[in-house]
Parts: sequence; structure tokens; C-alpha cells
Amino acid sequence: MRIAIVSDVHANLEALEAVLHHAEAAGALDGLWCLGDMVGYGPQPNEVLERLQEAGVRAVVGNHDLAAIGLLSTDDFNPAAAAAAHWTARQLQEGQRHYLASLPQVRREGDFTLVHGTLRWPVWEYLYSYGAAQAHLRLQETPFGLVGHTHVPMLVVEDASFPHGCELFYLRDGAVVELKPGRRLVINPGSVGQPRDGDPRASYAIYDSDAGTVVLHRVEYNIAVTQRLMEAAGLPRWLSERLAVGR
Ligand code: ZN
Repeated sequence: MRIAIVSDVHANLEALEAVLHHAEAAGALDGLWCLGDMVGYGPQPNEVLERLQEAGVRAVVGNHDLAAIGLLSTDDFNPAAAAAAHWTARQLQEGQRHYLASLPQVRREGDFTLVHGTLRWPVWEYLYSYGAAQAHLRLQETPFGLVGHTHVPMLVVEDASFPHGCELFYLRDGAVVELKPGRRLVINPGSVGQPRDGDPRASYAIYDSDAGTVVLHRVEYNIAVTQRLMEAAGLPRWLSERLAVGR
């Protein structure tokens, strides 16, 4: 079974298409999991939601998804993110609004638990620190966890021999995470639509149940296409500029 794991697509259809094409070029996909923030920031919220649904996505909700349907205040968003959230809210079709409202914050798929932020604070907390990782792992009932939200690909390995009981590792393009019985992990596949680790290429992962691996991939896409659409939509310039630098 091959499952593509995407997160933080952020209404960037050009990046999503590149990722799905890359994933399918290597073999048929048996599923698609999404860790939230399908919309917000980017220029094609409805198109991205349609494409994900067409591919049979199983998703959890992110903070930007909730903001776009008015279920989360944008008071804690930076001004550009808030402006984009309000723009997204005006664009969203009724059906897509209902779809986002129907999504769970936590979802279990076999040996994996899917959540946008952490299991402690599902749509808010960034899994960046030892404290957040420990809190998340304490609540994780499956061997493997999948999170997004930080826009940075990362692996957390739980092991009592580490000083903090776990260790955090950055995942590079092509990194292979081996899923071994008894070793609890959390994986962040990075962001499809707005990477923030200095590499502007779209980031995602593939879970291969036969191989017992999750492999991280970076995929080039036509950033200028997304930037032009953002400009035409009148979205804040800083949001389109950051796509080119991956920050
Ligand atoms: Zn995000």
C-alpha cells in the first residue's frame, strides 16, 4: 500500500499538482492523507479542496481551515495571514465550507494518528521543541504520529536513551524513515504549498506499508504561476515573495 502524506497545501494548486504527479509517477497511490491547512495564504482554495477530495483525501483540520470558515479568530494571526484568511473566507464555496467544518481535529488511520499541530493542542501547537514532542507522545496511542503546522519536515524518535526521552531530526529530500515495531515516531512531511525551511520546493512524504518506510520528497513546481495568481487576487505581496525563498 502506498499512501501520499501531504500537509499545509495552503491553496497552492500548482504545488499540489506537482506533488501528486510526482507521487503517482512512481506507482499507483492507494490513499492520500492530509494534515490540515488546505487553504489560507494561497490563491486557489476551492480548486485545492476539489482536487484533494477527488483524490479521496482523508484529512484533519488546521488553524487556517478553521479561520477560513469563521470557527477560529484571526486575532492571533499576523496581518498578512489574517488578510489572506478573510480573502479565503470570501472565496469559499458553500459546499467547501461545509466540508472544512466536517473535518476532525484528530484522526486515526491504522498505526498512524493524524493531527495538524500536536495532540495537546491540535490546531495551535507547533511541534518544534522537546516539551511539545513529549506532550504529544504522551497522548499518542498509535506507534506512529503525523503532524504538520510548522512547514518544516521533521522526524521525532522516542527513545529513553535520549536525554529528553526523544530526539528531533530534520528530514532532507530522499530521507527514509524506517517504521520498526516498538519504536514510536512522529513525522512531519513539511509543507506542500509554503515550505519554510529555506528550500522552496514542495515537500511531502510517501508511506509504503510493504517496505515499512516513510520517505520524504521535495518536488519543484512553477512558483511563478502561483505568485501571479496571488498578485491577481490582491493577496499580500509578502506571502507570494516568501514562496520563492522557502521562508
Ligand atoms: Zn500552515
